[in-house]
Amino acid sequence: MPPSPRAHSPATAADSATAGHSAAADSWRRLPAAQQPAWPDPAVLREVTGDLARLPALVLAEECDRLRGRLAAVARGEAFLLHGGDCAETFAGATADAVNAKLRTLLQMAVVLTHGAALPVVKVGRIAGQYAKPRSRPTETRGGRTLPAYRGDAVNGPGFTAAERTPDPRRLRRMYDASAATLNLIRAFTTGGHTSLTQAHAWNRGFVTDSPAGRRYVALADEIERSLRFMTACGVSAHELDTAEFYAGHEGLLLDYEAALTRTAGHDDRVYAGSGHLLWIGERTRALDGAHVEYFSRIHNPIAVKLGPDATADDALGYVDKLNPHRVPGRLTFVVRMGADAVRHRLPDLVEKVTAEDPAVAWVCDPMHGNTFVTPGGHKTRRFDDILSETRTFFAVHRALGTHAGGLHIEFTGDDVTECLGGGDALLADDLHRRYETACDPRLNHRQSLELAFRVAEMLRTRSTPPTP
Ligand code: PEP
Ligand code: MN
Repeated sequence: MPPSPRAHSPATAADSATAGHSAAADSWRRLPAAQQPAWPDPAVLREVTGDLARLPALVLAEECDRLRGRLAAVARGEAFLLHGGDCAETFAGATADAVNAKLRTLLQMAVVLTHGAALPVVKVGRIAGQYAKPRSRPTETRGGRTLPAYRGDAVNGPGFTAAERTPDPRRLRRMYDASAATLNLIRAFTTGGHTSLTQAHAWNRGFVTDSPAGRRYVALADEIERSLRFMTACGVSAHELDTAEFYAGHEGLLLDYEAALTRTAGHDDRVYAGSGHLLWIGERTRALDGAHVEYFSRIHNPIAVKLGPDATADDALGYVDKLNPHRVPGRLTFVVRMGADAVRHRLPDLVEKVTAEDPAVAWVCDPMHGNTFVTPGGHKTRRFDDILSETRTFFAVHRALGTHAGGLHIEFTGDDVTECLGGGDALLADDLHRRYETACDPRLNHRQSLELAFRVAEMLRTRSTPPTP
């Protein structure tokens, strides 16, 4: 991790005095905050965050509490978490078709995983708020010209001009609006019968019968079909099959935005981030004494921390102490993103030491971020086989330790993009240029996502059998 940068400017009294807004959301301002944009005009920032502080939160405290309960089941090995979506959402991408395609893909994956795990699958999108990105360098140089790096639509624009790249706090308001519109669609889709289990399975049928990659999963698809008929025959109500419980999450990166949407709830004035149900701290902002960990320590949402290959057991134990001092089940999830090789050597020590201290932590595999590289043609990409390999090793480590491989965190899209290599369609480096559309990291396309779900379902089915010596 890079060294911690400067402390953030202190809040004015007016910032925290807004109704429903909590002063506890501002303690982070005393501490160094990594990866914050250099907003050029503090007065505009104050005006925008003041507006945001008066608007309704996007999620309810009760929903966050319910998700915490679901994640407690994940930590106990009684549920499996599927968490995925774009690396970076864009404002232009917040369309009904794109949101629908992502939701459909995630639900299709969830049906397959539910069957594989024989457990409930907790569904969380990287969606409705995933508009800000940490960057490895603050600037980008092209043809001798240096401009601020693109930090996501919440901060600046991707075009390589000074106008686009100058951070604009008014974009935070657009982030709120795009998140609200996306969540509104998700709530409508998931309660209106568009996302029934049988429907999602019918979509999977298409993948299995129509694509060469899908055909190897015919037997599994047949089993799922029989199970669905069995459930209907048992009288499981249409309502239960028709509604999907779905949650929204994003990296809680921009602390000015998160603080403005922080609210209190309940008779004891508990503090919640109102921007999404599940927020996580990224690999680049997890300094234990930094502003992000401080902000996250004050909110009651379920939260996650990404752990890269350099994370030590002491780091992880530090997060447990600071972020979950009362060891609340489901409160803390570790999202491991070490890379296909490192995970084998680095993960066991962390899991063992953390489990001794807080057995109710959930462990989730992000097999994407440790396996990224740039092709000679200049495309940032990942190999499907590396993604599979890290996932398999993650499962093996947990199996050997007798702990629970709790879930999968992935970057995917519902569209037919060409961003990751391999999979059933055997995408090659030369194919990447055809539909390389991501605003940041490479995503699995629709078919690669389904294929991954079938492969992980096979791993889940063998999860309970003893490890081979
Ligand atoms: C991300 O999730 O897009 C990301 C930046 O990941 P990480 O913090 O794990 O590098
Ligand atoms: Mn990413």
